[in-house]
Amino acid sequence: MRKEISPIHVGDISIKADKNYHIAGPCTVESSQQVFDIAENTISRGIDAYRGGAFKPRTDPDAFQGLGEDGLDILFEVGRFYNIPVVTEVMEQNQISLIRKKSKSHPFIYQVGTRNAQNYPLLRDVGETGIPVILKRGKGSKVSEMISAAGYITKGGSPVVMCERGIETFSSASGTGRATADLLAITQFQEAGFITLFDPSHAGGMPEYVVRLALASIAAGANGTIVEVGVVDEQGKCHAQCDAQQALSYGQFTSFLQRAKEIEKLVK
Ligand code: PEP
Ligand code: MN
Repeated sequence: MRKEISPIHVGDISIKADKNYHIAGPCTVESSQQVFDIAENTISRGIDAYRGGAFKPRTDPDAFQGLGEDGLDILFEVGRFYNIPVVTEVMEQNQISLIRKKSKSHPFIYQVGTRNAQNYPLLRDVGETGIPVILKRGKGSKVSEMISAAGYITKGGSPVVMCERGIETFSSASGTGRATADLLAITQFQEAGFITLFDPSHAGGMPEYVVRLALASIAAGANGTIVEVGVVDEQGKCHAQCDAQQALSYGQFTSFLQRAKEIEKLVK
């Protein structure tokens, strides 16, 4: 039996179980110009929140780690300018209050990434803020382990939006070495009482696959998506320092959203 899902409030928005929500933006905040440009071209298409990472968990310690505090300033400036809630990743306990301070009370959602899905002290402390948290599926976490992980957050008072983003399996379907999407987990998280989004970007690994998976997730009943969009040049290349290969262009994102809305009508 499905548990009843309570709405989650972020600023003026109520996230409810019977609606669809789309969050988009760059993987990583890299410059004010980049973040404003992507905002202009996604917010105008009707997204519900704007994403961008200031603290980035990179596999390679020499890779760009994000702009940190400066990145937060840019992201919240854009959020305030467009009056839209923002989503940003918290990696360490000491970033919890920093992000909150930088928000200057602008509505936002903390994102806890796949690598921290079982970092219980972080989950506990972020949960004590009462601010909503998007909890991404751990690469190697079972559905049941994710439900327990969410419990660390909700214990403190923060509501959790679950996010399926793919897990590590022997099947590297995309050929890009990215994760395998576990679409049934979306239903299982919902059955456990969580509004559940799907992140097609980190499982798809390239735009064509990202769009296919994103549409499949809507058909599978996801409450919406969180998608990475980038500044793509005339040759179709995105020059972002993080996750450039999977960023959707503005055209690809716009066409995805239109098709998603058609599928949403069929699935309702
Ligand atoms: C991201 O959203 O950019 C990200 C790093 O996600 P994940 O933790 O799912 O890899
Ligand atoms: Mn990313």
